[in-house]
This record gives sequence, C-alpha cells and structure tokens, in this order.
Amino acid sequence: MTSGPDRYPVDPARAARAHMDRAAHEAAAIAARETPEAFWAERAKRLDWFSFPTRIKDVSFAKDDFRIRWFEDGVLNVAHECVDRHLPARRDETAIIWEGDDPKDSRRITYGELHAEVCRMANVLKAQGVAKGDRVTIYLPMIPEAAYAMLACARIGAIHSVVFGGFSPDSLAGRIEDCGSKVVITADQGVRGGKVVPLKANVDAALTKAEADRVIVVRHTGADVPMRDGRDVDYATAAAGVSDDCPCEPMNAEDPLFILYTSGSTGKPKGVMHTTGGYLFWASWTHELVFDYRPGQVFWCTADVGWVTGHSYVVYGPLANGGTTLMFEGVPNHPTVSRFWEVVDRHRVEIFYTAPTAIRALMREGEGPVKATRRDSLKLLGTVGEPINPEAWRWYHEVVGEGRLPIVDTWWQTETGGVLVSPLPGATELKPGSATKPLPGVELQIVDAEGHELTGAVSGNLCLTDSWPGQMRGVWGDPQRFFDTYFSTYPGRYFTGDGCRRDEDGDYWITGRVDDVINVSGHRMGTAEVESALVLHEAVAEAAVVGFPHDIKGQGIYAYVTLKAGVEANEDLRRDLVAHVRTEIGPIASPDVIQWAPGLPKTRSGKIMRRILRKIAENELSNLGDTSTLADPGVVDELVANRPGA
Ligand code: ATP
Ligand code: MG
Repeated sequence: MTSGPDRYPVDPARAARAHMDRAAHEAAAIAARETPEAFWAERAKRLDWFSFPTRIKDVSFAKDDFRIRWFEDGVLNVAHECVDRHLPARRDETAIIWEGDDPKDSRRITYGELHAEVCRMANVLKAQGVAKGDRVTIYLPMIPEAAYAMLACARIGAIHSVVFGGFSPDSLAGRIEDCGSKVVITADQGVRGGKVVPLKANVDAALTKAEADRVIVVRHTGADVPMRDGRDVDYATAAAGVSDDCPCEPMNAEDPLFILYTSGSTGKPKGVMHTTGGYLFWASWTHELVFDYRPGQVFWCTADVGWVTGHSYVVYGPLANGGTTLMFEGVPNHPTVSRFWEVVDRHRVEIFYTAPTAIRALMREGEGPVKATRRDSLKLLGTVGEPINPEAWRWYHEVVGEGRLPIVDTWWQTETGGVLVSPLPGATELKPGSATKPLPGVELQIVDAEGHELTGAVSGNLCLTDSWPGQMRGVWGDPQRFFDTYFSTYPGRYFTGDGCRRDEDGDYWITGRVDDVINVSGHRMGTAEVESALVLHEAVAEAAVVGFPHDIKGQGIYAYVTLKAGVEANEDLRRDLVAHVRTEIGPIASPDVIQWAPGLPKTRSGKIMRRILRKIAENELSNLGDTSTLADPGVVDELVANRPGA
C-alpha cells in the first residue's frame, strides 16, 4: 500500500461540532497576534484561578532584557485545577482507567477517589518534611500512583522530576543529583512486557552515587525488597496514618511546577523547567483543541509519564479538562501484537495518541493483528515524537483507522510544554507527513543558516519569534545554558533545533533536526525525506539516514536499513534500494552506503539516535558521546562490528 491521496479534506460534519473550525482558527490566529493581552486573558478563564491574573504577558527574547512571564500575578494550584474543581460535577466519574501489563489487570479511579489518593500522598510527603519549592524525584512504573505523586507534589508546591522507569541507576543518580532531590518515590518493581523491572534495587544502586534522605516505596508487585532503616518508607503504611484531605498550596503562576530531562537524542539531556500557570493552561487548551476533546471521551496517550508527552497528555491536559485518561503499564507487543487495539476495544477508547516508532513496529507485523479487533469506538488518531513517514501515516489511517479517522501529527518538544504545530480535526486539511499549521498564538519563522527570514515555499531552520504560555522557563540550575541553547543562535528568536519545509499552502513539514539535514553537492536534504523513500520499498521495515564526509560531494548519504522479517539482505537488494531512492527522490538522493541493520540505536522514548549513527558512518568510533539514554546499547556494538569496510 504505497499510494493514496495527498490531501484529506475536513469532514464538514466534524467541523460543525468541533471546538474550532477553519474560520474560528483563522480568526483566533489574528486575534492572538494583534491583541494578545485580551486574547490570552479570555482563554485563561478556562482555569479556576484562586486569583485571576491582571498581568498577562511580559516577554522579551533580547539578550540584555531577557524575560518570559505569563499570567505573572495569577494564583492557582494545579491539583485544584486537575482534581478538586471537578468534584461537584464529576465526583463519581472516571478520571483514570488503568490497564496493567497483564491484560487481566485493570481498574477505574473516579475523581472522588483521585482526590483522596492525591491528598494522602501529599500528606505523606509533608510528613517526610517535603515543603514548597523542594524537588521530588518520581521513579515509578505506569501505575496510578505516578499520577497521584505528580499531583501530590503540585498540591503542596513541591517540584517533581519524573524519571522514566527504564533508566539505569546511573542515569537516575545523575538526575537526582542535578536537581538536588531529597526524596525519591519509587515502587518495589515494575512490569513491562512480562519482564520485571527492579525499580527499588535501581534506586538503591543510584543512591550509592547520589544523595537522598527518603525513599518512599509503593508496593506494586509485592516482591520482597530490602528496606533501609531510617531512609526507606513503606508507602501503604505511611498512607494509612495520614488524612485523605490536604489543602492546596496557593501557587504563583510563575512558580516552578516540574523539571523534566529531554530524551537525549542530540546530546546530554537538559533539565527543562516548566512553571505552574502557563504550562497548565497550555496543556489544557491544546488537549481540548488538538484532540477536539470533550469530557466523557476516553483519551489514551500511550507515552510513559517519564516523557513530556506523558506529563501533558496522560496527566495534566486530560485531568485539567475533567476528562478520562487511560494509563497503560505495558508495551504494544505483549502478550500479542494486537494489544493496543484490544485495549482500545476493552475500554472503548475514542482518541488514541502514539509515536511513529510504535506505528512502524506494528506495521511490520502486517494487518492481521489489527484487523482481528474492532476499533469502532475510535474517533481520532494522533502521533508525536518524530517525523512520521507518509507510508506509516497511510497505514495508520487506512489499517488502524479504516480510512475514517483524521490523524493529528503533532509537532512539539519537551521545551514547548504542549503541541505547537498540528492539524485541528475540524479545521485543517490533512497531508500525510505534514504537521500542517501552527496553533493560534504560535509564531513560526523559517530562517537560513545566517538567520535571515525565508518567506514562501522554502526549507530552513525552524524558529519562533514570540513566546507562548507553555514555553519552558529555564534549564534547572543553569540560566545561561537556557539562553545560550535556544536564543543565541538567532538573536531575538527561539531556535527549535529542527529543520523544516513550508509548502505552497503554508503547511509545515518537519524534516528532522538541523544536524540531520545533509548537504549533498550543494543540495540541502532532510534525512527524513530519504528515510521515507526507503521505507516505501516493500522489503524495508525501518531506515535511518545520516551524512558523512565525502571527497567529491561534500557530504555523502549513509543509510542504515532494517529489513522486514524473512527478507534476505544481498547485493541485488542493495542495488534495488539505491535505484528505488533515485526514482522516488532523484539521483541526488542516492545512498552512497547502505548498511544492513538488524536494529537501530534508539532513545528510551523510541527515537532513532542519529548522532551515534553519524559517528559510525564517519568512522569516529572512539567518541560516541552520551549513550546513557540508549534503550539497547548492544545495537551499537553490532553496527560498529558490521560497518562496511570494518
Ligand atoms: P534532546 O533535546 O535531548 O536531544 P529530543 O529532542 O529527542 O532530545 P524531545 O523534547 O522529547 O527530546 O523531542 C522533541 C523533538 O522531537 C522535536 O524537536 C522534533 O525533532 C521531534 N518531534 C516531535 N514531534 C514531532 C513531529 N510530529 N514531527 C516531527 N518531529 C517531531
Ligand atoms: Mg530536543
């Protein structure tokens, strides 16, 4: 299935009942630009502030006058917004549906129960001496306690730092140390795909390298884990001794809400800091707009809460909107590769949001496992995390969505707090592979290497010329790194680090990170483009493309190719793939080297780490950089050993 329309118009019936149709979208974009104070003040009413802000926006990206403040005299509490304010109308409605790794385990938590659980966890934290402004590291599996812990921190004004449960003791230690957490919340063990993750043991190992005063241990599998006297606290015992009511700490809009480390695709992870008012507003507003969400709908974002996607669209966005969020502990291929769709059917999921890496992995298994399920509850599909190749987009649309569901391809970053560029289901014509249009208030600019604005249909580097409420406010402990990383490359603008193309209709296509744009004989090309062409070939499951120094062309094209199960790698196929790319894109895009790759190096959030592939292609094997966020380091050894010419 390699063809299909290039455009998918908006269904008029959907537009008629959507939060925003095309006319409203265009009007909002103009209002946000021309009268920002009035526009955002009006939108900010969606939150239930203790004290409504009178100062709305105070922003300058200039070096000598740098500041980013939103709603700065507003007072609110995120736990109040996500829990308490819904109690009068929704006490008995489901806030969280939890689906365990084992398909036999699932449970529903009402807003009333959520309130009691969050209060209890908040009181336990207080009893352990945690106060407003203190950092708390959360290292939990995808269980409801992860959401309770985040909201409990928010309730008492503590700053959480969630660390994905797949990280090693060393990575965990680095993150505890970096933000100076004195308390770690963990579980005895996690379970993913039937395999046990020794969370408590990892914390014990991490704390030989970093310091913390308290480890609060949630019993999940019930395994017998060693507890250290004076440091470790059994959560159930502590929770039994505290009240299930706890007041919400009044927080200033600009008080920090959390710290979260980026995925590490491009280098050492950054401790991204988000604040209370702007972040929560952005998570809530974008969740409603982009997914056209209404309370009562079951919303499932498959991301782990260890990533920003899990923060904004598993926990904060859906709960701020009084919604029902599904939390999944497991993985897409356990016990079978139908698991995602079985969960959709069991819980009547209406909105499903996942990553291209998951879609491509399931695509490899063919249509059968999808078609074995109904998926008739689904109303909308979404994707995030990497550019989605049109081939994967079409499979998602036609096989998963039976051709009847819009797909929102959402571009954003840990730094942006929530979605910035995405189709709106009632407003935007879809194009496979394009994130389409910025949300109202999002001012994009494409620039060349010198920072000159490029207009019309062009390719270049993606910047933002103005702030939005969900923008990060700092790199924890390193204000200078914040300015230098994002605002010094192109003065006066936020530089995303991503390359981007704008087409004749003004739609945006993210071409990958700027480092991944290659220059072959003077032609600039996004690696994503060449990868998409390779994946179109019937033998190819996944591909990663990087540049390497080439005597004649300046840069040559080096392609790592993972074949579909059962396909044999040989010279004929290699020639066939080169010819295929030539026909799809043109001779300029012909790969110079194709290396067969049984696996690709990925971050723990599932993104291909091209910087390592670049080093291998350049034969710079002694200095592979920070590999601490790699999911499976063995993949790298394999690629190094089988490098053509090695
Ligand atoms: P690090 O910043 O540590 O290198 P990272 O950039 O992978 O890691 P994230 O904040 O998780 O960390 O990812 C944001 C990046 O993911 C974006 O800058 C972009 O490159 C990519 N991305 C996210 N969504 C999309 C999308 N819909 N289309 C294309 N690229 C996307
Ligand atoms: Mg990044």
